[in-house]
Amino acid sequence: MTPTDITHGPLEDAKAQLAEAVEHLGCNPGVHRMLSTSRREMAVSIPLRRDDGTTAVYEGFRVQHNFSRGPAKGGLRFSTAVDLDEVRALAMWMTWKCALVDLPYGGAKGGVAIEPRDHSRSELERVTRRYTSEILPIIGPEIDIPAPDIGTDERTMAWIMDTYSASVGHTVPGVVTGKPISLGGSLGRATATSRGVAHIALMAMALRGIDPEGATAAIQGFGKVGRGAARFLADAGVRVQAVSDVDGAVWAEEGLDIQRLGAHSDQTGSVGGFEGGEQIDPTTLVTLDVDLVVPAAVEGVITEANADKVRARIIVEGANGPTTAGADAILADTDVLVVPDILSNAGGVIVSYFEWAQANQAYQWTERQVKDRLEERLTRAWHAVVEYSGVHRMSYRQAATALAVGRVIEAHELRGLYP
Ligand code: NAD
Repeated sequence: MTPTDITHGPLEDAKAQLAEAVEHLGCNPGVHRMLSTSRREMAVSIPLRRDDGTTAVYEGFRVQHNFSRGPAKGGLRFSTAVDLDEVRALAMWMTWKCALVDLPYGGAKGGVAIEPRDHSRSELERVTRRYTSEILPIIGPEIDIPAPDIGTDERTMAWIMDTYSASVGHTVPGVVTGKPISLGGSLGRATATSRGVAHIALMAMALRGIDPEGATAAIQGFGKVGRGAARFLADAGVRVQAVSDVDGAVWAEEGLDIQRLGAHSDQTGSVGGFEGGEQIDPTTLVTLDVDLVVPAAVEGVITEANADKVRARIIVEGANGPTTAGADAILADTDVLVVPDILSNAGGVIVSYFEWAQANQAYQWTERQVKDRLEERLTRAWHAVVEYSGVHRMSYRQAATALAVGRVIEAHELRGLYP
């Protein structure tokens, strides 16, 4: 990491991207100031009675960045790296993501600074319920709808729904998305983000004239996003040569057997030690000599320190904010095509929207309907970004952000400023 990367965290990057979009769009400074700040932020302290009888206390946040286009929407993260500025950045990116794929939502994000792997299931349930009860006044199906993110899953969403429902006195399935199917979750939600990442990656390959059959890929992160992306890309004929997680990384020239790798990871808790590949240094993953790199773990992994070593022809961002602004500037002078997070990982929030619509209608769609509508929306957004980038001679990230910010400003201006 260079000193610049240390001082420029995700919030500075998100604000710099917004400033570029605002300058391009020529909007007034008051609106720019409004979009640079969150509409509402809540910081809570969460006391947890641990299984051994001691009490721990964790910091938690919920940030709602914007409501101009509708209720706020965004994931809930359990990670020791969570802090208020990170959550602010992630909430801002959610606003742009929802606008880019034309969902009737603003952006939000939540986080609890906890390491889920160091806690039992019942401890995680108590933390989730206490966090939910603290933020209860500012969430709801018409206010702010959480979903899974790093370190949380459908079980977490079930606890949030139950805590919220117990408090209001009736079941409210629309308060969260990413729920288990048996509680009103949508068919296709669990794989929606990774399906979308693979769909976008295949469109990017087609644009660059790369045949997926035999193309090579490296995927960072083997969680809800990375694992599915690896599977869908392998299904399309791509040789997924390398996969990493927080504990290790594996590589195989002929491509990894993703199903076997998944079974190994389920058994051992990591991709490290998988016998169907060589163990490699996880920090080299994003600079491997492959056609496609999919960072699908955390933010800030392609930085000013390693951007000039990227050898892939395409980067499709599965994670939020994996490429720093400094790295973006370096990559802009190369041939590497960077497909930004707000486009490439939007599959999750698109199907979250479908889940919310199904909850509001109390009517379940078929898996086919979900998949077709997901791909249709993502494809539309992809073409809009490619075209805008061509017309205005800007990167895909600049184009996607400008398109999204323009839509949010339009909604804001149509509603007017109250009072
Ligand atoms: P997850 O907790 O299911 O998985 C995270 C994975 O990343 C794990 O395999 C973990 O070991 C790995 N990891 C963590 N730190 C790492 C590091 N430093 N190097 C390599 N691997 C590391 O989380 P997820 O839901 O898959 O989310 C991953 C990213 O995708 C996050 O940036 C998240 O915001 C973004 N995202 C998730 C969704 C979703 O629907 N889950 C939607 C859009 C974006």
